Amino acid sequence: MNYESTNVSRIAESPSMAISVQAKTMRAAGENVIDLSLGEPDFDTPAHIIAAAERAMRNGITRYTAADGTPELKAAISHKFKTENGLDFSTAEVTVANGAKQIIFNALLTTVEAGDEVIIPAPYWASYSDMVTLLGGVPIILECGSEDNFLLSPERLAATITPRTRWLFLNSPSNPSGAIYTHEQWVALGAVLSKHPRVLVMSDEIYERIVFDRPFVSFGIACPELRDRTLIVNGVSKTYAMTGWRIGYAAGPKGLIKAMGKVQSQSTGNPCSISQAAAVEALTGPQDFLIPMVAEYKARRDLVVNGLAAIPGLEVVSPEGAFYAFPRCDAFIGRKTPDGAVIQSDTDLSAYLLRRAKVATVPGAAYGLQPYFRLSFASSQAVLADALERIRAALLELEVQAA
Ligand code: PLP
Repeated sequence: MNYESTNVSRIAESPSMAISVQAKTMRAAGENVIDLSLGEPDFDTPAHIIAAAERAMRNGITRYTAADGTPELKAAISHKFKTENGLDFSTAEVTVANGAKQIIFNALLTTVEAGDEVIIPAPYWASYSDMVTLLGGVPIILECGSEDNFLLSPERLAATITPRTRWLFLNSPSNPSGAIYTHEQWVALGAVLSKHPRVLVMSDEIYERIVFDRPFVSFGIACPELRDRTLIVNGVSKTYAMTGWRIGYAAGPKGLIKAMGKVQSQSTGNPCSISQAAAVEALTGPQDFLIPMVAEYKARRDLVVNGLAAIPGLEVVSPEGAFYAFPRCDAFIGRKTPDGAVIQSDTDLSAYLLRRAKVATVPGAAYGLQPYFRLSFASSQAVLADALERIRAALLELEVQAA
């Protein structure tokens, strides 16, 4: 019996989760595996946020809320956009869901007709393209490699838009590349988009506070003329180390926000009431812990970039934000492993690194761009130093084959 619809049969489970499960299985069997495959902070949720959740539970904040978020959380989000981004959004232009993942899903479910095209610059967060496929859309993948600093150029965007284009996905800072668009680069993309009034813009800004070299600029600030077709996506998962609490949010045009709320009211209903109370505290409470947290990520970024750059054959562009490095690994394709296998792809290379170095990474194939691999630096500097040494040793063992 086949239980899967055509659209479901076209998608895969999250590849980074699959690799992490493999790493956990190896660990359970007693192997000393370092898992650099998962995209979540290794910090704990700050104590004042946990205290707010405890208070909420004791005070009876344990019932259904409005399906698309409590008035308190929407007010906190509206205030956040104003004070941190300089953007004016009323509470009617704000929505809350079970993670940024559900925000994106709701937005696509609300707007995409069968056959609509969604432009996704690669490398991209793996869920984007599968969500589009699941909902009957057509992902149009534009490869933007290290030679482009992983950024989409206005020329390529202009050449890709068709009458069927419904969305352009943008993600800055990017998972997996860490690339960040400047104000000028946003403006140049905005100029192309102004000529195509049917195209909506999904600006996923979930890593906005984790930046190392220069300040982050929201797409909404650079392109105010596109306000009626831009959805700014964000959430508390990464900034506040709250991945398990499942709170994401977005700001955009009233009609879109209202329709997304309607979709959510008929699917999951409201996000957890206790998590919403905690998110109010996250957004309105003390922010000082972010300074040492980002400084630590930056020190790890430097450690990882220097370590990778010192391995002959790996090419690495220093990530300006988020907590991933995405080295290019073409030099190793075609080489032979000590057990006689030939590395044919980045998927083979990641599998080799897990087998030989006992380090879990995710192949570029999962992000629509090869040959690369992603490693997360959401682990301590001591663990990262150990992982880099193991990766180096395993890569040096790969033999160049005679032509
Ligand atoms: N967007 C990007 C670029 C991400 O990397 C992630 C998580 O890995 C998400 C969105 C979803 O985050 P959440 O659903 O936890 O809010």
